[in-house]
Amino acid sequence: MKGLRRILLSISLIILVVLGAGCGPGALFAPKPYKETQFLMDTIIDITAYGQGNEAAVKTAFDEFKRINELTNRFDENSQVSKINQAAGKDKVQVDPDVIAMLKLARSRSEQLDGALDITVGALTELWGVGHKGEFVPSQAEIKAALPLVDYRLLEIDDKANTVFLPKTGMSIDLGAVAKSYANRKAIDALKAKGIKSALVNAGGEVRVIGTRPDGQPWRVGVQDPRNTEGLAAKISLSDWDSLETSGDYQRFFIKDNVRYAHIIDPRTGVQPREVVSVTIVSKSDNYADVLSTAMFVLGVERGQELLKQYPGTEAVFITNDGKKVVTPGLAGKIEF
Ligand code: AMP
Ligand code: MG
Repeated sequence: MKGLRRILLSISLIILVVLGAGCGPGALFAPKPYKETQFLMDTIIDITAYGQGNEAAVKTAFDEFKRINELTNRFDENSQVSKINQAAGKDKVQVDPDVIAMLKLARSRSEQLDGALDITVGALTELWGVGHKGEFVPSQAEIKAALPLVDYRLLEIDDKANTVFLPKTGMSIDLGAVAKSYANRKAIDALKAKGIKSALVNAGGEVRVIGTRPDGQPWRVGVQDPRNTEGLAAKISLSDWDSLETSGDYQRFFIKDNVRYAHIIDPRTGVQPREVVSVTIVSKSDNYADVLSTAMFVLGVERGQELLKQYPGTEAVFITNDGKKVVTPGLAGKIEF
C-alpha cells in the first residue's frame, strides 16, 4: 500500500511535458517514435526515440537508469551509496567509477556555488524525511545537531583507488540531486552509441534531447506552473540547448500549519530556502553545467544569477514566491509565458 501511494504521489509530480508533437501535412510520412515510460529513481522516466533500432536503443538507455539507480539509491541498504553511509566514521569503501564521478562533480559544484549544493546533506534530508516521514518538522535542536554532519569539505575521495570515506559517524551522502541528471547523460550516450539522432529523455524534470524533432523543429518543453499542477508557467524552445532541468518546491513537499516544507534543504542552515519556488536551467551537454537547478533554488535570484555567470551558455528562469519570473538574457526570444 505504501509503495502504491508513493508511486501515485510521484505520478502526480511529473513536472514537464513535451509540447506539440507536430501534426501538419508532413505528419503522415513522419518517422515512427518508440516511446517507453518506466518508474525508476522515485520518478517517471519517459524516453522517446526516432530512427532505426529505436526500440533496442531505448532499452539500453533504461538500463543506464537502472544501473545508476542501483549504485546510488540510499533507500536500498545494498547500494554503494548505502555502503558508504553505513561505513561513515569507520572505513573507506571501494565503489564504481561512476559513483566517484558523481561525487567529484558534486564536490566541484559545492566549491563553485557557496556550498548551496552539498551531497553530504544526507543527515538533514534524513532528519526532515520529506516525502517519507509525513508532516514531520524537526526541532531547532535536532537541526543544530545534524548541521556539523553536513560538509562537503570533509568528504574523502581517492579517485585512483576508487574509495570514499565519510570521516564522521552519522554523515551521509544523498545523491538525489545528482543521480538522475548523471543517469540521463549516460542514457543519452547510450542512445547516441546506437545511432539515434532524434530523441528526448525526461527523467522527472531532468530533460535531455538529441538533435531536433523528426520534422526538423526544435524540441519544446513546458515548465510546470509551480502552483497549478495542470498549467504551464513557460514554454522553452531547445534550439540552442540540449538539456533542461527544473528544481521546485512542488515536486515533493508537505504543508503544515499553512507552511510549505519542500525536499530541498539549505545545507548551511538546515531548513528550506523559500525565496524561489522553481528554477529551470537550460544548457548544452558539452558545457557540463549539470546539477545547477538545485543549487540555484537554494541560492535565490540574486546570488544565483551572479554565480551562474561561471557557466557560459547556461541560462535560467527563476520563479519567486511572489510569482515573479526572472529570466537571464540569453533566454530572450526562446521562452514564452
Ligand atoms: P532536485 O529535485 O534535482 O533539485 O533534487 C532534490 C533532491 O536532492 C532532494 O530530494 C534531496 O534528495 C537532495 N537534496 C536536497 N537538498 C539538497 C542540497 N542542498 N544539495 C544537494 N542535494 C540536496
Ligand atoms: Mg534535479
